[in-house]
Amino acid sequence: MTTSPQLLYHRAPPVDPERVLFTFPDRILSYRCRGCGNCCKGHGIGIDATGGELERLTGAYPALIPFLRRRGSTWTAFNPRDRCWFFDDAGLCRVETDHGRAAKPASCRLFPFNRIFRLGTFTVIDFNSVICPLHPGGDAPVAHADVLADIASVADPAVTGTPLPATDPESEGRALVLRERTVAATCFSAAASVSASVSVSASVSVSASVSAAYAAVLDRPPRAPSPTTLIHAHYLTPSMRFNELYGPRQYAARDAVVRALPAMTEAWLAFAADGEQLAQRPLTMQELTTLWSEQAPLLWVAAHWERAEPLLAPLLAGPPAARIAAVKAAPIRNLPLT
Ligand code: SF4
Ligand code: SF4
Repeated sequence: MTTSPQLLYHRAPPVDPERVLFTFPDRILSYRCRGCGNCCKGHGIGIDATGGELERLTGAYPALIPFLRRRGSTWTAFNPRDRCWFFDDAGLCRVETDHGRAAKPASCRLFPFNRIFRLGTFTVIDFNSVICPLHPGGDAPVAHADVLADIASVADPAVTGTPLPATDPESEGRALVLRERTVAATCFSAAASVSASVSVSASVSVSASVSAAYAAVLDRPPRAPSPTTLIHAHYLTPSMRFNELYGPRQYAARDAVVRALPAMTEAWLAFAADGEQLAQRPLTMQELTTLWSEQAPLLWVAAHWERAEPLLAPLLAGPPAARIAAVKAAPIRNLPLT
């Protein structure tokens, strides 16, 4: 059988297991989907049109046809309220209830491991740790092999082939995947060693820059988070790093962000320790993700404190609350930090 060139052009390239970065560990994280429905409250669902999903879904549910949208080569079905048409009152997906998991739209089948990016022949498989309550342990931790099998079942590049911006995608992809795989392995083994010896008090090495920022703004050193928060943070770190490098905050050249990431991670852990003191409990992976994304400008300044402090000095004379407000209000993007 021959395959038409047009079909070949529109199919997502396969994921080469030798050239993939998973930002999450193998067989560690579980999410035991109990239909919280967080992932079904967006404004549309991504459809594997290349793989024939458009015909299958509209065949089963003809009333969906008026709600189909096409942007470029991407097909979605929108829902005009804050809840998918198929999300029933029992918190279940009616497509899955009626026709089985394989019939669910591709983007839903892959969720929360549906953030799939390409740089040349390299692939990054990331996960949504904001919406889905992932946690280490559980009965059925997710295996990389199962995620790869799910991705292989999707044909449409709009679902599994988002290109990352790059001037030389192949060499940037190689550098990213090789470097971040090593970082991820270190983070995951650190999480395992903390969890293997829960009696060991949590400790993190804190850079001089983060310590100096805490001393200048809060008049005290940074604290270390509890072992549970630390384990969650170690498992999240590769994803936080990837999203800082390729997410919407493009405030510095990527190589400068790479250099800053270790100190930004230390500042994040210190913030997490402060957050859990307020909450009086360890922080979840969802909370830690939000903490990074909301406080990233402060993490960046803490990571460059030696260079930022002289510029911010006039703002640091008041009490700690006024100092932190002043630092946040400072034109951080314009600081000559790189
Ligand atoms: S957010 Fe996660 S746990 Fe909640 S319904 Fe979606 S997949 Fe299930
Ligand atoms: S199709 Fe099912 S899984 Fe996908 S958003 Fe709708 S209810 Fe949720």
